[in-house]
Amino acid sequence: MTKKRIHIFWFRRDLRLNDNHGLFQALSQSDPVLPIFIFDKEILEQLPSRSDRRVDFIHQALQNLRAKIKETDSDLLVKTGKPLEVFKEIAAAFDVQAIYCNTDYEPYARKRDDEVAQWAKTQGIRFSSFKDQLIFEKDEVLKKDGKPYTVFTPYARMWRSTLTDAPTKFPSEQHIGNFLKTESFHFPSLKEIGFEKTDVRFSEPEINTEILRNYAQKRDVPFGQNTSRLGVHLRFGTVSIRELYRCSVSVSDVFVNELIWREFYQMILWHFPHVEHRSFKPAYDQIPWHNSEADFELWKSGKTGYPLVDAGMRELLQTGFMHNRVRMLSASFLTKHLLIDWRWGEAWFAQHLLDFELASNNGGWQWAAGSGCDAAPYFRIFNPHTQLKKFDPELNYVRQFLPEFDSLEYPQPMVEHSFARNRALEVYKNGLST
Ligand code: FAD
Repeated sequence: MTKKRIHIFWFRRDLRLNDNHGLFQALSQSDPVLPIFIFDKEILEQLPSRSDRRVDFIHQALQNLRAKIKETDSDLLVKTGKPLEVFKEIAAAFDVQAIYCNTDYEPYARKRDDEVAQWAKTQGIRFSSFKDQLIFEKDEVLKKDGKPYTVFTPYARMWRSTLTDAPTKFPSEQHIGNFLKTESFHFPSLKEIGFEKTDVRFSEPEINTEILRNYAQKRDVPFGQNTSRLGVHLRFGTVSIRELYRCSVSVSDVFVNELIWREFYQMILWHFPHVEHRSFKPAYDQIPWHNSEADFELWKSGKTGYPLVDAGMRELLQTGFMHNRVRMLSASFLTKHLLIDWRWGEAWFAQHLLDFELASNNGGWQWAAGSGCDAAPYFRIFNPHTQLKKFDPELNYVRQFLPEFDSLEYPQPMVEHSFARNRALEVYKNGLST
């Protein structure tokens, strides 16, 4: 029997049908397109808990995607395993002409995609990947001498001047009639993938222009919703970055700046992959961290005695989200007040943040520790008392996440602020001069 000739679209962190670049390219040619998603065993096995909000979020986002694909008498093929093995299996059943996807820039993904592309080549299958996750990738925004930027402000200026027109639209949603017509495939349950249901609830992303309009004024207030909360949607591609940019560019310049921070950190990770494990500034690898396990436990469980830090750490555990101002403060507290290696904190955030993104998390942690690509000197240390007075003066956020705050149960500060500040200055100074 002759095998059916198809093209594959491989969904990864782009779980939407609209304005999806790679999908648009796949659907624009004449052969039918089989849409697939692979729960990658290599990634799942690394996760420390079987109850992971991200896996549940992806699972729900896929159900949503699948329902839309099914309206076209097609189906989404969802597999669990090693990507290369899955492709071999599909190639045994179909005459695969090409594999389309959107570029994933993380070190592991680059390796995985290279492997699949190499194998595809040996089979005479085309492997094509497209820019979708970012407006400007890799080396599209460089200094005049061709080198990558290492400071945000001039990068952002160049980013803005490089974007002369609105980003291109890729109307993939207009071509979904070209998905392969098929009977239903088995859709694995979370349990079959080896995970449990969590409290996360997927809903379609909403770009709230009212929030964007007030963003410059209110974004530092952690109580209530004053930021977009689109991080998780950008992470898994349930919103298009181009669409988000188009909707926000005339509403909030400050918001657009944050989208540029996201691209800045992606660019840094691409050009300086050592940051995944080491300090951007090598001298900072000499700092003799105290790394007290007991202190780390208090920080993780939100029992430091500093209410804004504790409320943030509890918010993270209870919801999978933490407000940016509080992320900055709690990261500064861990690295400066407690002298704990930023990589410990980075790993804790990576485990719990629903919007976890290697590049932004790493960039945020190295920024807080002073080891990153930031012009601010290491001796700028956040004062948790002042931060609380400024950003949660009525203690609304604190009381929301620390029910014991007004009782005797709430602990005294685990370390006195000015003592910790002076100690950090001393340890950093000595470490950097060795
Ligand atoms: P908004 O304020 O509405 O911003 C819109 C989008 O812009 C965000 O969703 C995000 O994609 C991007 N953005 C905003 N601020 C930043 C920033 N400083 N750096 C990079 N991108 C930004 N962001 C992540 O997406 N994933 C992470 O794992 C992550 N870890 C962080 C760790 C630390 C220690 C710090 C200080 C920051 C971290 N951030 C991270 C950046 C920022 O805190 C979050 O993007 C933001 O809080 C998400 O909430 P939001 O979607 O409401 O953001």
